[in-house]
Amino acid sequence: MSKINLGIIGGGQLGSMLSVAAKKLDIKTTVYCDDIDAPAQNFCNEFIFGEYNNRNKISEFVNKVDLITYEFENIPYETLNEMNKIKTVLPKPSVNRLIQHRLAEKDFVNKLNIRTTRYVSIEKKSDVDTLKDFLPGILKTTTMGYDGKGQYPIKKIEDLELINIDFSKGYILEKLVKLKKEISVIITRFSNNKFEIYDPIENIHEDQILKYSKIPADISEKILEQSKSWAMQIAEELKYIGTLCVEFFIDRNENLYVNEIAPRVHNSGHLTINAYNVSQFENHIRAVCSLEQIPLKKISNAKMINLIGSQIKPYRQNYKLNDNEFFFDYLKKEIKEKRKMGHITTLL
Ligand code: ADP
Ligand code: MG
Repeated sequence: MSKINLGIIGGGQLGSMLSVAAKKLDIKTTVYCDDIDAPAQNFCNEFIFGEYNNRNKISEFVNKVDLITYEFENIPYETLNEMNKIKTVLPKPSVNRLIQHRLAEKDFVNKLNIRTTRYVSIEKKSDVDTLKDFLPGILKTTTMGYDGKGQYPIKKIEDLELINIDFSKGYILEKLVKLKKEISVIITRFSNNKFEIYDPIENIHEDQILKYSKIPADISEKILEQSKSWAMQIAEELKYIGTLCVEFFIDRNENLYVNEIAPRVHNSGHLTINAYNVSQFENHIRAVCSLEQIPLKKISNAKMINLIGSQIKPYRQNYKLNDNEFFFDYLKKEIKEKRKMGHITTLL
């Protein structure tokens, strides 16, 4: 039988790690990305450069591959939907459309009777007058945000007036949660009631960018059970296939909230590469390619540190790794401020 050729949309670090996991499973990868310098071209079998609305390039990609997945959620729905008419796209395009829109995503979670932060949609200038209840808060664009991009802390109504809000875009205002902790739960769903779920990961953000992750999370049994059960409920309701991450807030009164869902592998799950028998990336490939499901086993506790911007430099030079340390360089061409350049996982 000829090898499966898996198409991956997006060529960043997640696309790279998916390609590495696929290779281990003897699956070919073709990465499609709108960045000519995309790091995943160092790890995949074939790389196609093109914009996400370039019909010719996209059809070249679709014709080459057997099925398609993606490493990030901000792909136009129309693009995924058109691809799905010819080759299966997993997770389903409709799932991506729901989750890439913060308002639709939060409405969906609330319908499942799962708690989120309090939020309000802002579409026009006059909406701003009724917002006192949601302050202090964070204004977020409903689409295209990541790593804190498109977010504005708002303490008082006047702050909103200072920002030049572009009302051609949609926004939500979220009430600020008094955070005690942030955790994430990564789950890979294979089919009805068949999934592998990782234990919650504790996360620390700096400037709204993930900086540290560790397992086990220092949380109560109740929060552990509730977060896993909510993640399962969300994956099941979406009839999701592949790896999904649910980000949670825990407030100072021990209330759990869903912050957001990522319909993809997630940065906080990088430590699963070294700390589990099967990583989140391998599980994603197994699920979308209908390969065998292997029971998950934790090998070790672990922590991960993201190397952001020039923090990567000393590690690229002659940093001596201990036996329990694993350094990943995403091989991004340019070092940029606030850009995730690599990470170090330490087994504990
Ligand atoms: P992104 O899509 O950029 O990851 P998030 O909504 O996850 O956006 O926000 C990034 C980080 O900002 C969160 O992990 C958290 O640390 C902080 N944050 C966002 N919204 C809130 C909120 N309502 N209350 C408290 N902290 C928040
Ligand atoms: Mg987030």
